[in-house]
Amino acid sequence: MDPKIGMVGTPCQITAATLMKDYESFIKEFPVTLKVGLFCMENFSYKYLKTLLKGKGISLREIIQCRIEGGSAKFHLNNGEVISMPLKELKEAMRKNCQICMDYTAEQADISVGSVGSPKGWSTIIIRTKKGLELLKEAEKNKYIKIKPIDDSGFRLIQKLARRKKETNLKEIKRREKIARPVMYWRVMPEPEYLEEVTDYQFRDLKGDVIDIGACVLCGACLLSCPEKIIKIEDRKPEIRGECPPTCNACYLACPRTYVPDNIINHETANEPLGDYIKIVSAKAPMFKGQDGGVVTALLSYALSEGIIDEVLVVDKDTENPWKPIPKLTKQVEDVVKAAGTKYSACPIFKAMGGS
Ligand code: SF4
Ligand code: SF4
Ligand code: SF4
Repeated sequence: MDPKIGMVGTPCQITAATLMKDYESFIKEFPVTLKVGLFCMENFSYKYLKTLLKGKGISLREIIQCRIEGGSAKFHLNNGEVISMPLKELKEAMRKNCQICMDYTAEQADISVGSVGSPKGWSTIIIRTKKGLELLKEAEKNKYIKIKPIDDSGFRLIQKLARRKKETNLKEIKRREKIARPVMYWRVMPEPEYLEEVTDYQFRDLKGDVIDIGACVLCGACLLSCPEKIIKIEDRKPEIRGECPPTCNACYLACPRTYVPDNIINHETANEPLGDYIKIVSAKAPMFKGQDGGVVTALLSYALSEGIIDEVLVVDKDTENPWKPIPKLTKQVEDVVKAAGTKYSACPIFKAMGGS
């Protein structure tokens, strides 16, 4: 039997996973069965972030923790110092694709988690599917997590941030559309027309519609889906090394920034700040420490230990290059614990599931 994989990822990575699952009969088998999404306002280019911080006299090696609080990034250094940098300054290193992102809370996940909206040491959990609800109940019953109702003020804060992200980025989408830099994924695309529309699109179209115009989120879904294994992602953009067979369109289908059909992004409800959900609570995980209150680690560890999933797709830190994110597929709870915490830069997460 094929392994069942749980993943933790940013909203754009969760959209890619949803596309690959819903359209696996057109792409290839995609064994992710549990999606835990992280709240995400923006992400940074590892290279530019490193250079920007170097200019401020901070080496990535010195940083033991980074927290985004009240419009600033707080870098906790190994000598006990805390250096604060306004987010406005960090924007220089922000990836261009994040400026057109309309999802703050991972709206296609089974469970979304973030620290915003809950007291220190707790996380906010948005339950979106029956599967997510069942996992939450069982993890609570088995004392992996504790939950309590979310405060009204916390709920309003998440809504405010999500709404602000959507309003700001919708302006950028409209601006790009006007200057012939189409934002394909935000165009209304009824499902019946979707498969017909993308029939003839191949990597050359992915390059023109996404990669060359600052829309690629660097998720690695194209690389994983390629049957010929000719897509490469080193540190930068996806590239092709070979010829595409005439009938293949797998990479274009799997990409979360080409067309996304309206059964995945419903434009009638797309302006709702948090998307569809069943309930929202605050939670903490007494057994696990972490930036997210240990909740992501606890949920995935519980799912692994109970055989709900057999492996977990996580993003760990590179031991050679501090804070550089490295995707990893693992069966070990210890790896899930070790990988906890935000890395702040993009990473082709699906590369760890195969491809070249
Ligand atoms: S596109 Fe950027 S802001 Fe949006 S989910 Fe991905 S990393 Fe986060
Ligand atoms: S063979 Fe070409 S069109 Fe097919 S997935 Fe690979 S790169 Fe894309
Ligand atoms: S081009 Fe590839 S890496 Fe970039 S967003 Fe699309 S699927 Fe992800």
